[in-house]
Amino acid sequence: MVRQIRRALHIGLVVAGIAISNFAAAQTAAVDSKVAAIEQQVIAWRRDIHQHPELSNRETRTAALVARHLQSLGIEVRTGVAKTGVVGVLKGAKPGRVIALRADMDALPVEEQTGLPFASKVTAEYNGKTVPVMHACGHDAHTAILMGAAQVLAGMRNQIPGTVVFIFQPAEEGPPIGEQGGASEMIKEGALSNPKPDAIFGLHVEPGVLGRIDVRYGPLLSSATDLRIDLQGRQTHGARPWEGTDLINLSADIVKSLTTLSARQVDVFDVPNVVTIGMMQAGVRGNILPGDATLQGTIRTFSEERLHRLQELIDTSVEGLAKSYGATAQVSYRQQAHVTGSDAKILESIMPALKEAAGAAGVDTRAPLRAAAEDFSFFEREIPGVYYIIGSTRDFKDKASTPSNHSPRFDIDERVLAIGVKAQVLTALQFLRTTP
Ligand SMILES: [Zn+2]
Ligand SMILES: [Zn+2]
Repeated sequence: MVRQIRRALHIGLVVAGIAISNFAAAQTAAVDSKVAAIEQQVIAWRRDIHQHPELSNRETRTAALVARHLQSLGIEVRTGVAKTGVVGVLKGAKPGRVIALRADMDALPVEEQTGLPFASKVTAEYNGKTVPVMHACGHDAHTAILMGAAQVLAGMRNQIPGTVVFIFQPAEEGPPIGEQGGASEMIKEGALSNPKPDAIFGLHVEPGVLGRIDVRYGPLLSSATDLRIDLQGRQTHGARPWEGTDLINLSADIVKSLTTLSARQVDVFDVPNVVTIGMMQAGVRGNILPGDATLQGTIRTFSEERLHRLQELIDTSVEGLAKSYGATAQVSYRQQAHVTGSDAKILESIMPALKEAAGAAGVDTRAPLRAAAEDFSFFEREIPGVYYIIGSTRDFKDKASTPSNHSPRFDIDERVLAIGVKAQVLTALQFLRTTP
């Protein structure tokens, strides 16, 4: 008897499941046809933006293109958020939660060598120099994808329970020297208020199997912390080091110590980390021991606790070594980005949408951790998020033979644009239709 009731219940659930999946299938088919209808337009946007790349905090043409497009869709638009950022608010016909979708808009000081018919020939001023400019990180694709997603979602307004916020962000790669910019500035200027999103989703194109989505339940990209060590001592003749402070040897000891402690005093199987000193400045000629020296480096890791532990170890080590040489040291840190990843519960709830968008290429939730950092992490400090990477290479063989992001030959298979639009639309709809 009990067993029969269970069976009846089970059949009921199965029927309900079929009803839901029929609904989902119908909705996916509708999204598919809307995406197909604008695919050529999205490609045209991407090419236009690619041919007119703009450096961080200078994305005025791109921002104007975005704002005009959102306005034409009847979306409420705020411009000039953190200099050139654009925020669009699309209110669905039904009440519900708020989801934010984010795209970055800036290009890099790289000389394009793709040979594409729409390759960039643009130059611009960067930190006082004239430099070539290229969309070498794929942010042209991200901007075009989100413009497409806005169009599809605006066309479905009547069926949307809740609100979609479109965040077009400047300066993901970091603002020029002496300027503020990027996600943290957008937050300061209200990008995450009126309305406050319940969650935010972001994506990035990267060399890989076309359409394959890499994502993780938890951290995916490392944090990035700038490290600077200023050393002071007494300048002396190189022939009489005992009369002064040998900051050259001290610098060498510090470099070795930091590299060793980050490999020997923490469990790198538990949380991976890297500490690199990439710059040493000391001295002007061979027979003078200088009175000051500067080291600069970067710390990459995947948890706040690990970062704080490394900072403690670095502080102790530098202080101790400086003391042993009779020098003084100042250690300072600047947080470039926090850990980027996905909120496990939200990722679970939108996984069917990601799988649908990835299609046969599939979703890899055990994607390798990446020692690359993302400004998106500042949004994720405020609200939970999901961040995924979409493979974007035509006939992908391996990473070694494919130009990486930031390479002068970086390019995408433009079929990834439609996949990206579909992923953003379906994940937003699924999030809004899921009861928390
Ligand atoms: Zn980049
Ligand atoms: Zn990027």
